[in-house]
Amino acid sequence: MNDLENLFQNNQQWANAIKAEDPEFFEKLSKQQNPEYLWIGCADSRVPANEIVGLLPGELFVHRNIANCVVHTDLNCLCVIYYAVQVLKIKHIIVCGHYGCGGVHAAMQNQQFGLVDQWIRNIRDVYHNNQAKLEAVTDEKARVDMLCELNVQQQVANVCHIPAIQNAWAKGQSLAIHGWIYGVQDGLLKQITETFNSIEQIPEHYRVSGQP
Ligand code: ZN
Repeated sequence: MNDLENLFQNNQQWANAIKAEDPEFFEKLSKQQNPEYLWIGCADSRVPANEIVGLLPGELFVHRNIANCVVHTDLNCLCVIYYAVQVLKIKHIIVCGHYGCGGVHAAMQNQQFGLVDQWIRNIRDVYHNNQAKLEAVTDEKARVDMLCELNVQQQVANVCHIPAIQNAWAKGQSLAIHGWIYGVQDGLLKQITETFNSIEQIPEHYRVSGQP
């Protein structure tokens, strides 16, 4: 028997359950997607985007990577954001971190982890920029959780600095950026940043105008 047979059985049951509620569900969805939200989250298996917010297939556009980073040279993430905003016209971008994030914790260690070091270097910068605040916290778990929150704040800012976002705002498109954090210990979400929906909310030197 295939080692993964249980996953195919689960899949059959899942599809049956959805069709029992709405026999046309998959047929309708096969024609188009019309999600209102883009979720940028951590790849951590404990943070499954759709389940956490109770949304069905077709309702949430999702991008996940280690420690929910939005890096201005990451073509993958930039293309997801561009497509979500320019083509799907999603109305909300949610950057969602989580407490106890392994990527964030790794970025606090003076130790190499291999290829992933290149990626979590972005979070080392967040640490460096907030060093005094972080090192005032003596409990290590609390310090990791504080950096998890600071990382979300930075990644929300990085989203706002992307020209495609600012162009959407300039055109009057309804688009809000949110920073959330998820508690793997209680399953609950919390908003930890203000909601960004206009260029006036971002520092002047990050504002760019005039499409190329
Ligand atoms: Zn994580």
